[in-house]
Amino acid sequence: MIDRKRGFYDEAQETMPPEEREAFRRTILRNAVKHAYENAPATRRKMDEAGVKPSEVNGIADLARIPVTRKADLKSIQKAELPFGGLAAAPPRAMRRIYVSPGPTYDPEGREESHWRWEKAFVAAGFRPGDIVQNTFMYHFSPAGLMFDEALIRIGCTVIPAGVGNTEMQAQVMRDLCVTGYVGTPSFLMTVLEKGKEMGITPGNGLRLQVALVAAEMLPETLRRTFQEEFGIQVRQAYGTADAGSLGYECHEAKGMHIPDEILLELVDPATGEPVGPGKIGEVVVTLPNATYPLVRFGTGDLSLFTNEPCPCGRSSSRLVRIVGRIDQVTKVKGMFVHPEQVQQIEKKVPEVESLQLVITRVGHEDQMTIQATLKSTASHSDELGTRISEVAREITRLRGEVVFVDRADLEDEKRKIIDKRKWE
Ligand SMILES: [Zn+2]
Repeated sequence: MIDRKRGFYDEAQETMPPEEREAFRRTILRNAVKHAYENAPATRRKMDEAGVKPSEVNGIADLARIPVTRKADLKSIQKAELPFGGLAAAPPRAMRRIYVSPGPTYDPEGREESHWRWEKAFVAAGFRPGDIVQNTFMYHFSPAGLMFDEALIRIGCTVIPAGVGNTEMQAQVMRDLCVTGYVGTPSFLMTVLEKGKEMGITPGNGLRLQVALVAAEMLPETLRRTFQEEFGIQVRQAYGTADAGSLGYECHEAKGMHIPDEILLELVDPATGEPVGPGKIGEVVVTLPNATYPLVRFGTGDLSLFTNEPCPCGRSSSRLVRIVGRIDQVTKVKGMFVHPEQVQQIEKKVPEVESLQLVITRVGHEDQMTIQATLKSTASHSDELGTRISEVAREITRLRGEVVFVDRADLEDEKRKIIDKRKWE
């Protein structure tokens, strides 16, 4: 029987006593800031403008003197200085891969041994050498697929690069290849399991799945329980971004997501830029000691809160209690970011449209996107127009949505381009 409870990727580092951890953090802080200042022109400019020299940054508290660079501004920062906006410490040809996120924004992957650092997350979630893992994250343009893929290989797992969609084939592969691990969104896991059930694939009858690492979506506790009780799958969640890789992961205790030891993560009041204490909601701001992409105070736009309470697993890092939302109207639907600006892009491409509003709901365990369209007085409703709007929306957001035509007066809050009606129990 494999022990999927206790396990570390780097036990000495993960369980460092507090004083040792503080010293370790000061070292990575000093190195990260110095390296970024010397090699990433945009960080150097930002620090010069704030009047902060690398030699003056000696403790985490000193970071607050450096302004936050916001993810929401990345598109314009990059546009002014393609492709990485002066934030990378190496030219494009030095990168291992370059990814494209909707926007577009460009994410570099350096040639260091583990650029995204997901190994600890997998081991903490119960993945072990010898697991056969179906990776259902997207493998093209987005870094999601490959960043998990590489970490799994490094910890000794076998990966099936399944990507998104093809539910029936996913279920068949899960049975035929004796898959024991899953990576992807929680909703897609449930979709595949339900399809499998229809095909007669159940625990004890072709379904051997034991562990799952889910990300990019909320994991309601009710859904986690269903995975455990009905399918016997231990599901743990992780949090990360395309720019910064792993930013948090649950251990077996599942009481919040451990912040990776090798990065510096602050929670910052979005209004004042000041760090907040345990239990207070703030924006996740990351300082990343990465050789090729050394971010200094990068604001992800995600809101969270942290705790320093000791975790019974023995890891001594702080934990993000949960992700509570976004600081802007940006939202995640089926694991993909959707920006108000994308809604405007759709509007521009369909001349008959006066305005659009996306309404996000949850049906069963899945996100659903409805596109509410109001038309110009010269245009009229038709199936053809509905199909065209939905196709343009799919091109721009990579998501399917149902179009409904509405009168302006029926819109809930006209100014908002995205309305999120999901509840997470
Ligand atoms: Zn723990």
